[in-house]
Amino acid sequence: MERPTAGLYLVATPIGNREDITLRALRVLREVDWVAAEDTRHSGQLLKHFQISARLISYHEHNTAQRIPQILKYLAAGQSVALISDAGTPAISDPGEELVRACIQDGIPVIPVPGPVAAVAALAASGLATGRFVFEGFLPLKASQRQARLQQLAQEERTLIFYEAPHRLQQTLQDLLDHCGPERQIVLARELTKLHESFWRGSLAAALEHCAAQPPRGEFTLVLEGRPPSEKEEISPSEAEVRQELARLLAEGLSRSAASRQLAQRFQGSLLWTRRRLYDLSLQLEPLLGSDPSPAVELSSATDDETES
Ligand code: SAM
Repeated sequence: MERPTAGLYLVATPIGNREDITLRALRVLREVDWVAAEDTRHSGQLLKHFQISARLISYHEHNTAQRIPQILKYLAAGQSVALISDAGTPAISDPGEELVRACIQDGIPVIPVPGPVAAVAALAASGLATGRFVFEGFLPLKASQRQARLQQLAQEERTLIFYEAPHRLQQTLQDLLDHCGPERQIVLARELTKLHESFWRGSLAAALEHCAAQPPRGEFTLVLEGRPPSEKEEISPSEAEVRQELARLLAEGLSRSAASRQLAQRFQGSLLWTRRRLYDLSLQLEPLLGSDPSPAVELSSATDDETES
C-alpha cells in the first residue's frame, strides 16, 4: 500500500447512498495513518462496508480542544489524517473548520477529497436559479440573532440554501414566510440520494400547508428563491401609507396582531411588509395611541405629515 503525502485529507462521504463514495475517497481512507470521524461507530460501519480497516479517532464539536493538538502532533510527525463527518463534506455545517484553520496556521497541507454535499445536490435539482446562490446552513436558534438574520436574508436576491432538522421545519417555514412573504418559491429537498428521496416545490404558504398535512420526517435541505428584484418597488406600499392603515385599524379596536395579520394579507406579495414587520411597526404606533384621547384623528394627521414630507 502506498503511503499518502502527509497532511489533513478532508474526505467527503455519502449523504445517503453509499454508491456516492468516490474511488479516491476509498483509496485515501485505506492509505492514511488515521481517520478522524465525528462518530466513530457510525463511520466504522461505513468503513466496514468498504472493507477498510483504519485507525479511528473521534473528532466532534465537543472534543476539539483536546483533539486538535493531538491531530496536529500526528501531522507534524509526518503522518496523514483523513477527516470524515457523519455525512457529506466535512467542515460544511460539520466539525472541521477549526482543525482546517489550525493546520493552515501550522503550515500543514490541507487536501480536499470532494464528493457529496446536500446543499449542492438540492440546489442542482431545485429548478431555481443556480447561477448565484448563498449557503446559509442552519439558521441561528437565538431569537434576536434569528430575527436579524431573517430580516437581512429577506432582501437577498440570490438563491438561498438552508439546512434544517425535521422537528424545526415548520417553524422555519413560518419565519421565512413572515419575512419573505407567502408567495416566495421554495423547494424542500428531502432524503437526498436515499430510498425516499423527494422534492416538494411551491410557495412558502403552500409549503406550510403541506407540512401541516404531512408532518416532516427525514432529512431536509431547503432551497429558497431569492427576492425578485422588481417586485418590491412595484407592489410595496410606502411606510407612511402602511402606518396610516395600521393606525386606522388599531383605532378601530383591532389588536396589534390582528391588524398586522389583516394588512399582511392585503399586501400579499409585498416582500417588504410581512406580518412580523407590520407588527414591529404597530409597536411604534402604541405611544401615540396611548398619549392622545382621540387617537384616530391624531394618528392620521401624523401620518399625513409624514406622507407630505
Ligand atoms: N456536511 C454535510 C453536507 O456536506 O451536506 C451536512 C451536515 S449537516 C450537520 C446535516 C444537515 O444536512 C441535515 O440536517 C440536513 O439539513 C442536510 N442533509 C444531510 N443529508 C441530507 C439528505 N440526504 N437529504 C437532505 N438533506 C440532507
